[in-house]
Amino acid sequence: MQITFWGVRGSLPRPLPPWEMRERQLMLLHEIRLHGLPEEADEERYLDQLQPQLQRLVGGNTSCVEVSVGNQTLIFDAGSGIRILGHRLMQGPCGQGQGHLRIFLSHTHWDHIQGYPYFPPIYVPGNRIEIFSGFPNVRQRLEQQQLQDFFPIPVSAFSAEVLYRSLPPGKILELPESEGFPPGTRILVKELNHPGGAYAYRLESQGKSMVYASDAQFSGMDTASLEQYYDFFHSVDVLILDAHFNFRESLIHRDWGHSSALVGVNMAEQSKAKKLLLYHHAPGYSDQMLYELTEEARAYKRMYFAASDLEIDLATEGLTLSLP
Ligand SMILES: [Zn+2]
Ligand SMILES: [Zn+2]
Repeated sequence: MQITFWGVRGSLPRPLPPWEMRERQLMLLHEIRLHGLPEEADEERYLDQLQPQLQRLVGGNTSCVEVSVGNQTLIFDAGSGIRILGHRLMQGPCGQGQGHLRIFLSHTHWDHIQGYPYFPPIYVPGNRIEIFSGFPNVRQRLEQQQLQDFFPIPVSAFSAEVLYRSLPPGKILELPESEGFPPGTRILVKELNHPGGAYAYRLESQGKSMVYASDAQFSGMDTASLEQYYDFFHSVDVLILDAHFNFRESLIHRDWGHSSALVGVNMAEQSKAKKLLLYHHAPGYSDQMLYELTEEARAYKRMYFAASDLEIDLATEGLTLSLP
């Protein structure tokens, strides 16, 4: 199983502002002054040793995660990040009209579907694209996004075969071995607490697992409700979780349906998850703020869950995790 992040922001795409670019340049100059200029042959190694903020841009695209299993591609959400993923997929079978993709939508708030009309494989005859969702009317919702009042091209312009599949909570989707999935690969669904509803997906394959749980509020829940999520996330290898707000703002915006990194640590610890990826970052937060929030979450974990081996990382665009 291989997981790649193509969009990690929530609410709205967030291009890097010029003044933040300037700050990064100044930080890099500071590093060079401290450690000297590398030889030309050492440039890549030099960059790999810099602090994470200077190595990895968080990225500005909204929600989209690609998971490769066997020789198949699964996609979680169709935020603006799906556009670049689509261009990448066009270099393979999708470019020849021989692609078969499965897209799992958490819900249809803009930041999770705004990249859908810009997904190149959907305009290639012969490709087959299945859209899975817990909502029975997801087809209608996606068609509405492309009505002429909002978008110039209707869904009737799609040349690929697009199939809409209902995947309600409780139903288990077994992914077919005949198409290249390892035996026993399956997806489970769970409803999340979010205005208008949203769904989390748990993918299991070859003894490894990941959960995609974007747009979820856990604060204010009773113990019995929380335990349902501990069960759903239980012992998962990679937990991709809504960490939209910092802790203070999560208290101010109590009913906006989002979480914070600290709540994420609690959820991951209670579920015995192995790795927590902080995801769906608020558009108002700079890269620097997000790296600081990640450090704060690690410090919180060390203080309150000292014996745990939970790893915590920031989901950034282009980050790939391999679960061998
Ligand atoms: Zn969202
Ligand atoms: Zn939402």
